[in-house]
Amino acid sequence: VKASHGSVRAHNERLVFATVFDSGQVSRADVARATGLTRPTVSDVMSTLLERGLVQEVGRGPSTGGKAPILLRVPADARHIVVVHLGEFAFRGAVLNLRGEVLTDVEVPAEDLYGEEALENVRDLVRRLVATADRPLVGIGVGVPGLANTDTGTIIESVNLGWRDLPLGPMLQESHGLPVYVANDGQATALAEHVFGGRRTENLFVVTVGRGIGAGVVLDRVLYQGDGWGAGEIGHTVVVDDGVECRCGNRGCLETVASSRAIFQSLSDGPPESPRRSLATTLEAFSSGDSKVRQVVLEAGRQLGAALAGVIGALDIHRIVLTGPVTAFGSAWLDALRESMASRALQRLSGQTTVELGVLGEDAVLLGASALLLTRELGLKLPPAAPENASSPSPDLALTAAGRPGQGGARRSEN
Ligand SMILES: [Zn+2]
Repeated sequence: VKASHGSVRAHNERLVFATVFDSGQVSRADVARATGLTRPTVSDVMSTLLERGLVQEVGRGPSTGGKAPILLRVPADARHIVVVHLGEFAFRGAVLNLRGEVLTDVEVPAEDLYGEEALENVRDLVRRLVATADRPLVGIGVGVPGLANTDTGTIIESVNLGWRDLPLGPMLQESHGLPVYVANDGQATALAEHVFGGRRTENLFVVTVGRGIGAGVVLDRVLYQGDGWGAGEIGHTVVVDDGVECRCGNRGCLETVASSRAIFQSLSDGPPESPRRSLATTLEAFSSGDSKVRQVVLEAGRQLGAALAGVIGALDIHRIVLTGPVTAFGSAWLDALRESMASRALQRLSGQTTVELGVLGEDAVLLGASALLLTRELGLKLPPAAPENASSPSPDLALTAAGRPGQGGARRSEN
């Protein structure tokens, strides 16, 4: 069936836009070469994109003989993105620009939010963010604890939030008339570390260790979500027979021995404190050399290392990144984890695997949700991995290069 004129036009617009975005600055002639479209088609499509403010002319590039070509680029604020992270302590939402810079952010305390009440808070948060946006929005991205089907926007199951088969994406889509993408928070974090983190590698395994433990997998530079959307769900694999009861209903899951919850529970005999306070006091005791605390924390690291040995055997990914509150225990915890991992995996494989700490901090899930929108909704490709030791790319060249050279938490920069 021959594609209709309208859909060809839309396809060309998307292609030209993605090419300009991914190139940083580019001439019409180079876009024609890169896309295989004719020069008149590119000029025509570019006029439309200029009219809509999706691209802008930024002066002339170097001449290659004839008249110097006019260069075009996508302004960072051409479109904005609404993203939400349904975190352990808070629901955090933000409006980002196309470079992942945080323009507005809002936080709602969420430790006790559950079920219908949690849903109402999410809807309210999104409403507030959409209302503050002063540019057209690409869409809404949501990072959720639990299993989430990114294709349908359904939360398959979130134990924390008490949600099951909740069509969150379609609900938000109906309210705001915008595309909505939902993803598991660990998977979103992995995508964020891949796109906005330090160095770019083809494959990546990212583990978030907080009250829960989740992970995400990037294979060949694409987020791999699994056949049932559960890729990276390592926290609820049983590692201790008849162990401590887990919030998933099972006993002895990895979360019951390696998460912050597990650490605090083994150290406390009184009623549970607020997790934030527990982390601060435990960290202090850990750094001052409290032997009981050190023993518990390092054992938690060893348990996680043992689980990662299994990951090495299954995937042979050479770069593992750890993020989340528990990484605050730093190098001693990390060394215990590495040793345990190395002693349990094939040496030829584990010897080539690096384990490092993530660089994005609390913004990771928000950035991952935005990366999901940029790649799926706008068709933007991820720029190719820079060879290691390469000089840093020009700031306009890539999503990664822009604004977030690795020290997370960057706000809108001067330009
Ligand atoms: Zn469990």
